[in-house]
Amino acid sequence: MVVMQGKGVSKGIAGGPIYFLHRPDTAIADVPAADLEEEQARIVRAQRDAAAQLTDLADRAREEAGEEAALLFETHAMFVDDEDFTQCMRTALEERGCTAERAVELAGEACSAMLAGVEDPYLQARAADIRDVTRRILNNLMGVEERGVDCDVPVILAADDLSPSETLQLDRGKILGLITQGGSSSGHTAILARSMGVPAICGLGEAMGPEYSGRVAYMDGETGQVVVEPDELTFAAFQAKRDSQREQRARLETMRGKPDETLDGRKLMVCCNIASPGDVGDVLANDGQGIGLFRSEFLYLAASDYPSEEEQFQAYREVVAAMAGKRVVIRTLDIGADKQADYLRLQKEENPALGVRGIRVCLNRPEVFRTQLRALYRASAYGRVAIMFPMITSLWEVKACKRACQEVMAELEAEGIPYDKNAEIGIMIETPACVLLAEELAKEVDFFSVGTNDLTQYTLACDRQSNNLGNFFDPHHPAVLRALKLAADAAHRAGIWIGICGELGADLDLLDTFLAIGIDELSVVPAAVLPLRARIRGSIAKTCTLDRLEC
Ligand code: PEP
Ligand code: MG
Repeated sequence: MVVMQGKGVSKGIAGGPIYFLHRPDTAIADVPAADLEEEQARIVRAQRDAAAQLTDLADRAREEAGEEAALLFETHAMFVDDEDFTQCMRTALEERGCTAERAVELAGEACSAMLAGVEDPYLQARAADIRDVTRRILNNLMGVEERGVDCDVPVILAADDLSPSETLQLDRGKILGLITQGGSSSGHTAILARSMGVPAICGLGEAMGPEYSGRVAYMDGETGQVVVEPDELTFAAFQAKRDSQREQRARLETMRGKPDETLDGRKLMVCCNIASPGDVGDVLANDGQGIGLFRSEFLYLAASDYPSEEEQFQAYREVVAAMAGKRVVIRTLDIGADKQADYLRLQKEENPALGVRGIRVCLNRPEVFRTQLRALYRASAYGRVAIMFPMITSLWEVKACKRACQEVMAELEAEGIPYDKNAEIGIMIETPACVLLAEELAKEVDFFSVGTNDLTQYTLACDRQSNNLGNFFDPHHPAVLRALKLAADAAHRAGIWIGICGELGADLDLLDTFLAIGIDELSVVPAAVLPLRARIRGSIAKTCTLDRLEC
């Protein structure tokens, strides 16, 4: 028996033979090319094929793993034609007089090394994307087809590392789990594994190697443990945990259709966060009571130019109609900081998280705002739309947003276009300023929804994108929880509801605190609905305390 410890990145127990992924040998000789023009044409063809493959993969990802995964491949498709990357290949070809393969390899190495060297962790992570795209273009040039898992029985797939496209292209029926030498929990492969529901462990290092191919192992995607050829006792322990997880899943299934209500009758709404109309299926499959956050910016990020009123209207209407009268909270464009699109031409800023982002972009660009509001109000005629504004810090911003809504409603009225004049208007509580003004803001709107990701960032002065902050970034910090309480008290005094749509909403350890604070709605990823419901239905609200608000 050999025990290895890695980092569990996607929960679940799997047991079976290990298959260590063999990659085709793609060693590239550094030899001069006979005809540079022909080499250039080969690169163009390989890029074109890569872009087409990635577009197909994005469609497949949208169906199998959701919008976030699809966006990943759409981003890769953009990298394929990236101007700097293309120029880098051309320069290598011209200066070295080498083959197309060598030029692509050199350009990939240079661009990924450049990204890996920058301080911004988001850009650093893009280095892996460039390597993935480079490999794809090289495979096209060399006619190499990645065959993935070449065996008949389901296996635990082991590899040095897996790229996102390798992960998505795996035959799901053959994969019991994924284990890798490298990788991180926030890497795209881990995200994909979670959305595909495949147990995964990364960071096993050299301990895991090809010598284990064919040997039976058990893995626990929660604890990060891999045991090769477990002894009887260890085998029994894995089996017991697997059985209990299966039972737990079956128990959760019984929560479907049940109200989100505590044992002493406190009702909550458990709703879902989505990023595109393609995610609504998951909301319905997991029995979400509504949509508490539709991140509309994905419509803008996936496009190469501003989405038109009509395009937006179609997307919003699709979601609203599919939810059949259940409330759909659509957040207006929340772009800037880590979310950028070239055509928006947002100015480079030293501290983008403190720059022109969220509602600031919309208030600076009234036409962009108006187009979105028109699409939202038009969609409101097809169901129950609520409109929500992100990154609010001042009362005047809320008043300006409401004025923009009034103007759009007047326009639609004059044009005879139907809309819901009672559509709720709300704001996200994401900044300390918003919490401190909650009393006044609550009188202006129909609801508050707390974006705990940003509220934590701005309350604790901790960059949510940084991997270096460790314990300093603490969403359980009493200051964050007290901010929630202040906002909730102000909301309730004004007679409006308050929800949480940041990641914290799905944190089962905080449910008692949320009940004690009096939160009315939790909006979470669809997979978190039933576990949350099970916990709510086993809770007694009146015995919940505010202990966690103490230092
Ligand atoms: C949040 O900040 O908690 C939130 C829900 O918004 P986003 O994560 O999209 O910034
Ligand atoms: Mg936010």
